[in-house]
Amino acid sequence: MSRRILFLGPPGAGKGTQAAMIASALHIPHISTGEMLRDAVSRGTDLGKQVEGVMAAGDLVSDDLVVAIVDERLSQSDANCGYVLDGFPRNAAQAEALNDAVINAIGTVVLLKADADELVSRLMKRAEQEGRADDNEETIRRRLQVYDAETAPLVSFYGDAVHQIDGIGGIDDVFSRIMLALVAF
Ligand code: AMP
Repeated sequence: MSRRILFLGPPGAGKGTQAAMIASALHIPHISTGEMLRDAVSRGTDLGKQVEGVMAAGDLVSDDLVVAIVDERLSQSDANCGYVLDGFPRNAAQAEALNDAVINAIGTVVLLKADADELVSRLMKRAEQEGRADDNEETIRRRLQVYDAETAPLVSFYGDAVHQIDGIGGIDDVFSRIMLALVAF
């Protein structure tokens, strides 16, 4: 089983939840660029100040900034034995940068799928529960557009490495589907 796993899928598909569960089950780090960026915003760092507005609008932070964060994180020793990447790469330029930085950077890609109505209703529910600044209807719509335009083409970039998983259902059911796909690969 490859331990260099990438999660792809639109906002609201459950990537964050499932990526964290898979990372914990396999004892490898869960590397979420969205979490790292939100952390920078909440700590008020220079990076946080630079990215806050872009994130609130639902747009992508510049490739240079995100690639630098990921490079630094992947160079830490706990990433030597594998990792679950969640939210990166988000476009072709980032995927190329990852390939350039780490040979065989990705072994398996998990593509979590859910239809658009389900995504919006999950994100609106999360808005009530977690209060994320970018979980409002306008930004949600923008993030879905950005996913379709920028990130969805990565499915063909990764080709045969991609496993499509139905993201509808209970958290444990979806987790089992992903584990089965990873074990089989
Ligand atoms: P996420 O938690 O993955 O949904 O990310 C939340 C927000 O952080 C996104 O809407 C972007 O503004 C920003 N972000 C996260 N990852 C990336 C990335 N790889 N490239 C550019 N922006 C990102």
